[in-house]
Amino acid sequence: MTVVDNQRSVFRFAPSPNGRLHLGHALSALLNQDMARAADGRLLLRIEDIDLSRCTPEFETAILDDLTWLGVSWEEPVRRQSQHLGEYRQALQKLIDLGLAYPAFMTRGEVKAYVFETEQHGRPWPRDPDGAPIYPPTDRERLATDRERLLADGCRHAWRLDIAKATAKLGRRLTWTETGHGPKGHIAARPEDWGDIVLWRSDAPSSYHLSVTVDDALQGVTHVVRGLDLFHATAVHRLLQELLGLTAPVYHHHRLVLGADGRKLSKSAGDTALAALRARGLTSADVRRLVGLA
Ligand code: GLU
Repeated sequence: MTVVDNQRSVFRFAPSPNGRLHLGHALSALLNQDMARAADGRLLLRIEDIDLSRCTPEFETAILDDLTWLGVSWEEPVRRQSQHLGEYRQALQKLIDLGLAYPAFMTRGEVKAYVFETEQHGRPWPRDPDGAPIYPPTDRERLATDRERLLADGCRHAWRLDIAKATAKLGRRLTWTETGHGPKGHIAARPEDWGDIVLWRSDAPSSYHLSVTVDDALQGVTHVVRGLDLFHATAVHRLLQELLGLTAPVYHHHRLVLGADGRKLSKSAGDTALAALRARGLTSADVRRLVGLA
């Protein structure tokens, strides 16, 4: 018999198997484990593998191997996002039924051309907190008849959230509780800074924002511990939680481990890959020291 314990805190580490783990992931995984232990909580592992063009089973095996070497242990079963597309699809349908999502037909190239064209005329085009151009209004403003014709013709499309309509429907400002290494306390969420975020992609099912929000709720996650690079994305997750009627966890965005060049580590960062450190004979205790957790 499985006893579900509703009282204990639930933490999760959620890597994407599109490369090897590096020191930044080690900090995240170890901090999740330390915080879960301190709270007498549970630690879950979620493999975020919806982007099938970049994720491989080999990287997943390597991640499990690196985590075991680090001394991180998690509750089974591991959740793999690729096995739960139906749940994300249901969440998307709910947003479509609420009239808050629209089919988006522009390709990356068309968005780029639109932004270039606009900026050629001296008007700077707004960027999201990650520096990517906000999605142009073309598809949002399309006539219903035009939209239906394109869908009937089978035109390739993504689904995007009408952020202005969604925030207006909510009618109040959102906040989240933050305990991390950046700003703390009740943080005012500004989902509108992201423009019409993608909910479902044309080249991969679901989107990071939609699946992470649905999963954290379905898995009963109470504490999200992840890097400060995802701090601003939390505004979008809070909005989706409210629209979908999901509960909000507490967030703890931790400092990032930077490379020798002062930049965020990337999956291809060879000498900070855990596999490379392990091959050089370092131990899990050495990694703790390297990421400042000793
Ligand atoms: N899968 C994301 C990554 O590897 C992390 C998502 C999250 O923790 O919310 O960067």
